[in-house]
Amino acid sequence: MSNEILRKINNELALTGAKLVAVSKTKPVSAIEALYRDGQRIFGENKVQEMVEKHAALPSDIQWHLIGHLQTNKVKYIASFVSLIHSVDSLKLLEEINKQAQKHHRVINCLLQIYIAQEDTKFGLTAEEAKTLLNSLEFSSLKNVNICGLMGMASNTPDTLTIAHEFQTLQQLFLELRASFFLDNNSFCELSMGMSADYPIALQHGATLIRIGSLLFGER
Ligand SMILES: *Cc1c(COP(=O)(O)O)cnc(C)c1O
Repeated sequence: MSNEILRKINNELALTGAKLVAVSKTKPVSAIEALYRDGQRIFGENKVQEMVEKHAALPSDIQWHLIGHLQTNKVKYIASFVSLIHSVDSLKLLEEINKQAQKHHRVINCLLQIYIAQEDTKFGLTAEEAKTLLNSLEFSSLKNVNICGLMGMASNTPDTLTIAHEFQTLQQLFLELRASFFLDNNSFCELSMGMSADYPIALQHGATLIRIGSLLFGER
């Protein structure tokens, strides 16, 4: 069942060049193994403890993406292996990621999470806060983090026009920040947006990473 859906999504993505993050939160290791056997290598988790346990139990060529809110005191548990952190929402968190990355002699790839929804339950930076962060002296001194792009979550609504507007807003900010801050840095190239219910809209607005959970693994 799930591999049929995996094939369908991969066919859709082949037309766009975007990549699939299989969101395996709350699902057992066996469910991840099933998709792994079908070729999936990028998995997303929203809890540090769960990601650490699954990382230890599963093949080492899996790329682990942290997609949920990250507390500074937990960065140290994932710094040795995390492939991409989608949810950076403060300079303080970025400084801690930099510090822990340094200890492991690596550069950790990060996305800035931008607040785009009409709801006040979602984490993220405003466009202004993102610009302030990227302009700051503190940020320019961080050598062990690499800001690769932006992440956002649209409102949880059946109103596709609202969702499309929010994704378009994020895409515009992405293009603006790239032109202002990353002209000579080709690594600012990822736009993480779109989940099970709204990923086709996200792809229409330039998503390069889509984060799909329930469609692949069933309802949580
Ligand atoms: C759970 C989650 C997803 C996946 O949601 P589905 O609706 O199950 O596809 C994507 N992004 C984030 C940040 C999540 O927490």
